[in-house]
Amino acid sequence: MNLKEHIRNIPNFPKQGIQFKDLSTILIDPAVFSQVIDELTERAQKYDFDKIGALESRGFWFAPTVAYNLKKPLFPIRKPGKLPGKTVQQAYKLEYGEGIIEIHDDAVNPEEKVLLIDDLLATGGTLKGSCSLVEKVGGRVAGCLLVVELEFLKGRELLEGYKVETLIKYR
Ligand code: AMP
Repeated sequence: MNLKEHIRNIPNFPKQGIQFKDLSTILIDPAVFSQVIDELTERAQKYDFDKIGALESRGFWFAPTVAYNLKKPLFPIRKPGKLPGKTVQQAYKLEYGEGIIEIHDDAVNPEEKVLLIDDLLATGGTLKGSCSLVEKVGGRVAGCLLVVELEFLKGRELLEGYKVETLIKYR
């Protein structure tokens, strides 16, 4: 199965000039979703890790099923104001300006190895911020797993030193 055929491109969303990769077309087809989850699970198995960190929001579409398959603990990495408990925050660079993400302060214990899962790697800012947040609370980043990579945005360069794997690449 060619997974690329199951990703819908929406031009100029959410703003002019962006080619938005709509992955809801993966979720709506059980055979396609199964293949994506199976591939993510297979790749995740190769890492030595304790917990999965799921990135808001479309990381939530994929990470929980991988965590379920591998019987691993899962914690959310969210935009500010969404988590009810005490949190730790991290600022990160966006294309224009800054974003903030946070986790519960007890989500990651010192020395715990975390596998990060998200839907798409673009400029890498969100993922880099998540790596920094895990390290800020004393955890370690075992690796990063994503469904799609927009290679032309060179997100990997920002993530030098981290293991990053993606299933589908756009050049
Ligand atoms: P970045 O921090 O630039 O790597 O952006 C990654 C985050 O933004 C991911 O969580 C994606 O869900 C979202 N994103 C960025 N660009 C796109 C795009 N062209 N299509 C779909 N999602 C995108």
